[in-house]
Amino acid sequence: MPSTIIDSHAHLDWESFKEDQAAVISRAFESGVVQIVQAGVYISSIPEMLRISEAYENIYCGVGLHPHEAKDWTETSAHSLREAAKHPKVVAIGECGLDFHYNHSEPETQKRIFAEQVELAREIGKPLILHTRNAWDETFEILKKHGKGEVRGVFHCFTGGPEVIAQINELDFYVSFSGIVTFPKSADIQAAAILVRPERIMVETDCPYLAPQGQRGKRNEPSFVWLVAAKLADLRNSTKDDIAIQTSANARRLFGLPSI
Ligand SMILES: [Zn+2]
Repeated sequence: MPSTIIDSHAHLDWESFKEDQAAVISRAFESGVVQIVQAGVYISSIPEMLRISEAYENIYCGVGLHPHEAKDWTETSAHSLREAAKHPKVVAIGECGLDFHYNHSEPETQKRIFAEQVELAREIGKPLILHTRNAWDETFEILKKHGKGEVRGVFHCFTGGPEVIAQINELDFYVSFSGIVTFPKSADIQAAAILVRPERIMVETDCPYLAPQGQRGKRNEPSFVWLVAAKLADLRNSTKDDIAIQTSANARRLFGLPSI
């Protein structure tokens, strides 16, 4: 049987795929990507993400407001997310979190909007897709305070080092690796990739950005997720197929996706 895998984080609704979205999706399925989870960045993009999720049986989405956009949160945002989350193809809240590397929104605003989304996830019983950059302590603090141990989630596009894995384990969250783990200069991320427990590791493209080594510089797309799996196999002394099986089982467990 051919191997299959899940891309746990993609942005198929973005402008970069406007011209050939259907071709990109068929290439993914032909390569053995069997399910894709889109991550939400803007409230305004929810209709297009839902349209894609309705058009393809095996494509799902999260809905949320990215920390870069936290300044755009309005009084109606929580309501919009809550309503969208009732859709059967919405499997998560996010991506949300904190990004103190770029600070495109004020740190205090980011913290407030992230906390709101953690509470929403807890109330509706959905997992979180987390974007965290240079903000580990504050992220853990908000997850503990507002998640109250009742929310699970995934640290997507992991860019931390081995030192934060113990804290992630303590929260019992998942860790997802993108093309960044394949880059030669990512020694710290690679060291962390060895430490994640087999039942908590996931893979993603985060396309259209961050094409893995071998496709670097190009537009990224879900079929390239295999290159991330191959790198993890190298690092973890495993095989690409075993990584695909493990990471797919984990994505299905966290997001409640059917086995196919
Ligand atoms: Zn993303």
